[in-house]
Amino acid sequence: MEARAAVTCAECGRSRQVSGEIPDEYIACFARVVSEDGFVPRPGTAPTLICGECLRGYESPGTESRDDGDAADRKLTKKSVT
Ligand SMILES: [Zn+2]
Repeated sequence: MEARAAVTCAECGRSRQVSGEIPDEYIACFARVVSEDGFVPRPGTAPTLICGECLRGYESPGTESRDDGDAADRKLTKKSVT
């Protein structure tokens, strides 16, 4: 069975397509997307994917004083529902 899905970064909108025969091609394609663009689940409670570039924003010391995390979370959750 062939499957197709798009993974989209919840922060910058970068999008990659995952497709292929389940399970091997599909897994391999997702692994390629992860290794090329660094897609990972966004840290936090919402199961949202972000790309590796945006993830680096989370590990940078000194940027964690931003207090807009909750607002962004709500916006992203709403967006992913539609
Ligand atoms: Zn991104």
